[in-house]
Amino acid sequence: MFSYRHAFHAGSHADILKHLTLVHLVEYLQEKPVALTIVDTHAGAGIYSLQDGFATVSKEAEGGIFRLMKFKEAGNPIPESIQKYLDYIEAENTAEELNTYPGSPFILARLLRPQDRLKLFELHPKEIDILRHNIDELECAKQIDVYAVDSFSRLKGLLPPPSRRGLVLIDPSYEDKQDYRYLEEAIEEALQRFATGCYAIWYPILSRRESAALPDRMKKICALHIRSWLHAELRVENAPRERRLQASGMFILNPPWTLEKHLAEALPVITKALGIDGGAQFLLKSFEA
Ligand code: SAM
Repeated sequence: MFSYRHAFHAGSHADILKHLTLVHLVEYLQEKPVALTIVDTHAGAGIYSLQDGFATVSKEAEGGIFRLMKFKEAGNPIPESIQKYLDYIEAENTAEELNTYPGSPFILARLLRPQDRLKLFELHPKEIDILRHNIDELECAKQIDVYAVDSFSRLKGLLPPPSRRGLVLIDPSYEDKQDYRYLEEAIEEALQRFATGCYAIWYPILSRRESAALPDRMKKICALHIRSWLHAELRVENAPRERRLQASGMFILNPPWTLEKHLAEALPVITKALGIDGGAQFLLKSFEA
């Protein structure tokens, strides 16, 4: 426990899939003026350097955000669905250099309107201090609460949000195999309190049984409580002998009707930009009862 530091993975292909989806979810939910409550159950440090520290050791951003920016700079057309996400990355950097990658707390904080609230959970003893420091620097810090407690057991306490308009990002590190079970329990409890909320779950695609089973487990939970889901995956390579993460997925409960079109536009371009070998591919499926 606590060996995971998101700085190693900041700006990776997995972050791109997750954050691209997240930006669209928030923008859709903000189409109505009513206050939106956003919960980020696994926040990390908030924002990361790409030029020193952990990111330079793992070099995961090389296959992610740096590759996507090079693709753009080479003159390849970037659809609006991707550019809207890139706007949040570019806003934290100068035009000349990509030094910094905003994690979900910073992307979400930049999206807040005055009436919105952001709730961040982080359990890592070092990450929580960095997160608090980073959030304190923001103008909208008063709209943000940071909790140093286990989000799986505490999420339900924030639901339903006062305005009954809410988005929950669940992005565990899956460092502990039990996270898959905790995630299911947290989702079940959350849906009992707030079945109309939008829930966005990120997961790694690994040879682990629990990871392969996650989408089907979620579909079963959906069948009991809600009417719609969307499932997207991005694979950048298929090199079974390599240990690095080559694919990840997002499972969205109660997705906005616009999300499928948005990802259908973005994912072919992302796959082309980030694909390393012929195994690069995406999946996009949705269901509405
Ligand atoms: N959501 C972040 C982003 O997109 O920038 C990345 C988060 S990272 C994948 C997962 C984080 O969850 C780690 O920083 C880890 O310390 C934290 N964490 C692990 N278990 C937790 C728990 N039960 N409650 C809250 N935070 C937890």
